[in-house]
Amino acid sequence: MGANLEVTPATRRDRCGKCLSVIAPSYNEAAVLDLFFEQLEPVLDACVTAYEIICINDGSRDATLPILLAHRRRNPRIKVIDFSRNFGKEVALTAGLDAAEGDMIVPMDVDLQDPPSVISEFVDRWEDGYDVVYGLRVDRSRDTLFKRLTSRLFYSLFNSLSTVDMPGDVGDFRLMDREVVLALRRLPERSRFMKGLFAWVGFRQVAVPYARPERAAGKTSWRYLKLWNFALDGVTAFSGAPIRVWSYVGGGAAAAAFLWALVIVLRTLMFGRDQAGYPSLAVFILGGFGLQMLAIGTLGEYVSRIYQEVKQRPLYLIRSRFGWEQDADTGQN
Ligand code: UDP
Ligand code: MG
Repeated sequence: MGANLEVTPATRRDRCGKCLSVIAPSYNEAAVLDLFFEQLEPVLDACVTAYEIICINDGSRDATLPILLAHRRRNPRIKVIDFSRNFGKEVALTAGLDAAEGDMIVPMDVDLQDPPSVISEFVDRWEDGYDVVYGLRVDRSRDTLFKRLTSRLFYSLFNSLSTVDMPGDVGDFRLMDREVVLALRRLPERSRFMKGLFAWVGFRQVAVPYARPERAAGKTSWRYLKLWNFALDGVTAFSGAPIRVWSYVGGGAAAAAFLWALVIVLRTLMFGRDQAGYPSLAVFILGGFGLQMLAIGTLGEYVSRIYQEVKQRPLYLIRSRFGWEQDADTGQN
């Protein structure tokens, strides 16, 4: 897990004169934004000399955008990217990574489940020379048993299938050096499983443990079906095993059928013909049919993702950006 990624850092850095970018994807977060800025800004003021907070309004249906713009009028270091619709958290994070100008980049949730106070510890470790400082959730007692079990199952499955090692109990909350973000920008895939991509790029990594509190206000937009699809995205994006395994299953089934045929021929030669075997025949047909459907379905999962990639659609569409001079900042901003 996290600890074995710890290596001796190369050179110490100095935060002086360096800028930190926070990336905050926000979807229907009107209830919690005031509190978010209230807690985040003092932490940033205390630990770095320059910062920007890039908020991505991911097609919210509530007052998230006007609240963000109001905060931007108060503090111009808050920048806002307004998506044309809801593209999902992973894509919102990607947009933030594309736009971030800082030397250190910190993606975090706005619901205060990623405590802002941890950032100062992240910056300390970055100064020590680490390129990626990720938050390790040590206390998950507030998550349900089912969620903890399924999550553990997912991580062990993911790590056994894929070539990259993804530490469990780690979210998107982390600090990355600019180098790491430049590397992430070179990954063009449309299926954005950020945790996997973060693990894929590597670099010198270290964990900082923290207790993950409850959401401060508002409610989560993740449902189990969404989590299932998310997990599927993760596995298919980082492992070919689910699709390759079918050649072995097919080969095994063919070999078994051949042996069984041999047995039948020998038995008929030795003991004569009998009429038994219809029930087992039905079982074989049904089982074989099920396996074929599973194989075709797995094939479909990959083919549909290939289709997503070849369409070459942009990952997201921005309606407007507030805080970048080259854009036409409208009205009061
Ligand atoms: N989020 C987003 N787009 C979405 C769903 C969520 O930008 O379609 C943001 C949300 O505003 C929050 C973060 O992603 O800042 C995490 O979402 P949430 O708290 O609902 O997830 P959970 O903490 O329950 O995993
Ligand atoms: Mg949350």
